Amino acid sequence: MMHRCLRFLARTVAALTLALLPLSGVMRAPTIRTSVASGGVVATPLTRRAAERERVKAEVRRRLVERGSGTYISEMLAERDSALARWPDRAGRPLAIWIQPASSVSDWTEEYVNSVQAAIADWDALELPVRFALTSDSARADVHVTFIDQFDEAISGRTKWERDDNWWITDADIVLAVHHRHGPPLDEDAMRALALHEVGHLLGLDHTEDATSIMAPRVRVRNLSAADRATVRLLYTLPPGGVR
Ligand SMILES: [Zn+2]
Repeated sequence: MMHRCLRFLARTVAALTLALLPLSGVMRAPTIRTSVASGGVVATPLTRRAAERERVKAEVRRRLVERGSGTYISEMLAERDSALARWPDRAGRPLAIWIQPASSVSDWTEEYVNSVQAAIADWDALELPVRFALTSDSARADVHVTFIDQFDEAISGRTKWERDDNWWITDADIVLAVHHRHGPPLDEDAMRALALHEVGHLLGLDHTEDATSIMAPRVRVRNLSAADRATVRLLYTLPPGGVR
């Protein structure tokens, strides 16, 4: 079974890995003489603040080149116009997650709650700067996970998050479908995999073409991959925002 989530539909053709590829040298045929001219333009001087911003971005680009291998962060940058979003370091205050404890949707089972809890625990085991805690009080929750029968589109899950002007994620909610579109209910393992994928989005991850990762747009694995772990760990060492 495959599960697609909404972000796939919004996706345009992926521009692959451009963000992290080193600049290639210009290829020249040895027998042809080529003259090269480099031009420069004098623009207004950088303000101190702008200079600091540029310094930070250059440092992020350096770290991406140094530590980007084994991750799909370059795909995320290509997808998101060279910007990264993530939760701020919450200084030991976990994100409170509420999982809908009951549902009248046909075929819904309490086991789904366990599936979602297991998915949250898997991500939380990475001990990122943002930790998770379950709450039974929906009014006090930062994140709500709810179930619906099925989506109108060919997707099984949807994560909506909001960010501020500095690309810090400020709010997120997850909706999971009990049924494949026009199809049978998800089994518990599939629900856990779907929840793993959506919590990945909640953390700020985007899709990868790597089908062995949980963040593939069509979820075909049941566990986090090494690339999933490495990508989110790298993301949480970087300041959010544009890198270009
Ligand atoms: Zn997705």
